[in-house]
Amino acid sequence: MPSLQTQLDLACQSIQHEIGVGKVADYIPALAQVPADKFGAAIVTVTGEKALFGDSQEYFSIQSISKVFALTASLNLHDKKIWDRVGREPSGNAFNSIVQLEKEGGIPRNPLINAGALVVTDSLLESKTTEDCTAHLLKLVRQLADNDSIAINSEVAQSERETAHRNASLAHFMQSFGNLKRTVSDVLDVYCQQCAIAMNCEQLARSALYLASNGTDPLTKTHIVDEERARRINAMMMLCGHYDASGDFAHRVGLPGKSGVGGGIVVVIPDIGTVAVWSPCLNVNGNSHAGTAALEALVRATNWNVL
Ligand code: GLN
Repeated sequence: MPSLQTQLDLACQSIQHEIGVGKVADYIPALAQVPADKFGAAIVTVTGEKALFGDSQEYFSIQSISKVFALTASLNLHDKKIWDRVGREPSGNAFNSIVQLEKEGGIPRNPLINAGALVVTDSLLESKTTEDCTAHLLKLVRQLADNDSIAINSEVAQSERETAHRNASLAHFMQSFGNLKRTVSDVLDVYCQQCAIAMNCEQLARSALYLASNGTDPLTKTHIVDEERARRINAMMMLCGHYDASGDFAHRVGLPGKSGVGGGIVVVIPDIGTVAVWSPCLNVNGNSHAGTAALEALVRATNWNVL
C-alpha cells in the first residue's frame, strides 16, 4: 500500500492539466484578483497523519464552506428548531437562486445554499451584536482548526458586502415571509464576514475532522457536536454541498463535501479523515474544476468513497 503522501502526490500530479480550466469567480471583485494557476491539497487523518501537496499553505477565502461551520453552530444553539426555518432537500438550482423561495413560502431548500445560509446566520444572531456573532463563528473555526491565528480577510469581506445585491434580494424576500428575524443589513454583515474567513488547505482539512469522527475532534478529544448532528451535517454535505452539481459530485467522488467560490472544497471520509483541495478556477456550477478532478483521482486510488 503506497503511503498517504504518495497517494496524494500521484492523484494531484495526474490532474495538473486541469488547473486553469474554468473561471475564477469575479462577481466578488476581490476574488477576481486570485491567480488562476494555484493548486493545493491536504489530507489529515483521524490519527493525526498528514499529507500536503502544492500550494497547501496558501490562504484563500473559504466562502460557502463556512456554511458547514455556521450550521454546526446553529444546531448547537437551536437544536432541531432550525429545521422549521430551512429545509433539507437538494435544491437542483444555483447556489444564489431565488426561484424556489416564492413557491415555497420563503423557506429555503437547505442550509448550504445562500438563502438557507442566510437563515442560519440569522439564527446565530439571536440576542447578539453582529460583532459578537462574527467573533463566535471565528472562535468556533479556530477551535476546529486548533489554530488561533485563523482570521477574516477584511478586504474580501468588504468587497462582497459592497456587491451583495443577490444575497440582499434573497434576504429581503425571506424577510417578507417572516423568515428573517434581524435586519437584512445585520445578516449580510455577518454572512460576508464568515465567507471571508481565510484558511489554507491544511487548516481547512483539520477543521472538518470532527465530521469524520462522530462530532468529536479526534486529536484534541473536544466534543463539537452530538453524533446525530454530525451525521446530519454530513448528510447535508452529501446531498447539497455542491448546489446543482451535488449529484455529479456524488457520482464522481462519493463523499460528503462542501465547496466554496474561493475554489476550496473539503470532503469527509468517515472514520478515516478529511481532504481539502484548493484551485480557484470554477466550473459553471461554481465548484473548483481542478479540485474536483483531484478528489476524483484520489478516491479512485484509495477507494475512500462511501457509496
Ligand atoms: N460568499 C459567496 C456568496 O454568497 C459564497 C457563495 C459560494 O461560495 N458558493 O455568493
